[in-house]
Amino acid sequence: MESNRRDFLKASAGLLGASTLKGYPVWAESSGEKTKGASQPGGFEHTGIWYFLPSFFEYSLGPWQPTLPANPDLAELWKQTIDWYADNGLNFIVIHLGPYGGESVPIGPDRIRFGWGYHYVLNFDRFPEARCLDEDFVKRNQDIVRQVTEHGRDKGVAVYTHHYNFLAPKTFVDAHPEITRLEFLRKGSFVDAHGKLQCWDMRRLLYYDVCWNKPLYQEFVISCFQEYHTLFPAAAGILVTPGERARCQCVECIGERPNAQAAKVARYQDSPQKRRTIAHFVKVFAKTLNDMGKKPLVRSWIAGVNEQWIDVLPKGVTYVTKYSVFDLTDGGPDPKIIPWIKAGHDMWLMKEISGVENAGPLVLTPPDAFDRIVDNCRSLGIRGVMGVFNSEWDYCTEENEYNMPMSYFSPTALANDAVIRGKSVQTITPTFLADPGRLS
Ligand SMILES: [Zn+2]
Repeated sequence: MESNRRDFLKASAGLLGASTLKGYPVWAESSGEKTKGASQPGGFEHTGIWYFLPSFFEYSLGPWQPTLPANPDLAELWKQTIDWYADNGLNFIVIHLGPYGGESVPIGPDRIRFGWGYHYVLNFDRFPEARCLDEDFVKRNQDIVRQVTEHGRDKGVAVYTHHYNFLAPKTFVDAHPEITRLEFLRKGSFVDAHGKLQCWDMRRLLYYDVCWNKPLYQEFVISCFQEYHTLFPAAAGILVTPGERARCQCVECIGERPNAQAAKVARYQDSPQKRRTIAHFVKVFAKTLNDMGKKPLVRSWIAGVNEQWIDVLPKGVTYVTKYSVFDLTDGGPDPKIIPWIKAGHDMWLMKEISGVENAGPLVLTPPDAFDRIVDNCRSLGIRGVMGVFNSEWDYCTEENEYNMPMSYFSPTALANDAVIRGKSVQTITPTFLADPGRLS
């Protein structure tokens, strides 16, 4: 256990003296040059962070904290962040396409909780009816993502994006009434669900809970994956979270049900139909990305503790799992991961490093907790670790004290340990991201 920390300290020794500011973990200034011999923290092959926010279109967290540099440029800030990753041996980053913040987002407010931001960057060449934002605006956004992904490729930091399913622009759904004509409660009984779909973004451009079992919707989503990687060939791949928002209530998605109330409940429950639907999505997603030479990453969240999912979900894709279902133990990984590994699935560890949604940081009070998790994971053959910057749940909490186990993700945090420990979430939330926007 100690050797993990020692190795890490050794690799980051040159950076520790740079942390002098109090408050949020301060990053060392990056040289922009990859440090020779920098090793992967904790001995993993893949080490990086998934940001719930900032997105590509929000000010990146970085060495300039706690204040932004003058005249900040979105692409330049992300490039500096990537330099810092390269300097510290982190080799991937996951950035949302859809902006989450409110008035503080430089390209304008939105609050896409599920990261589904294809309408911000795609031309929707195959489905032009899905366009819903100004063409010049989209082109400017494309330029940002192109610069960031190319810089990541050049520096050896794989740049992924992430999204939940199943969402689609209103414009696309409105143009195709067959997508919302669904078999409901029993076979042969159809309803028009169009009026039931809801938006959760501030701009109100996206519907969620769209039915994956509609062939046209499948074609549309595949076209999004393909156009994204065609537009941004330097992008590494996509991380997806199937199962949320994927709460269609049709017979194909959740099976036959006796009444509307039962269907409403069933959309949150396991069923053979739901397993088949999600497994089919994962298969299609993995094939589309593999065919383009990109890496598909899938959160295994949907399976929960249900081992019956393990044989349903396809191979040829890397599953990223929280180290325990709700992060409530510190002896990880959760034994539930063992059947996945035995079944031959490629697994990465996911750990919240900020945010209190799943009590992640709270269980890391014992100083050696994360070392123990890392040791156990490596002994099981887990080759990747993804930290989660769960920013949404910082905002939702006013007074939560916890220890941030940043040591595997931010070497400079080690020097700030005394400062970080015991600070409330509000205190350490970067000030320039303080406005998450309000849902109307
Ligand atoms: Zn459905």
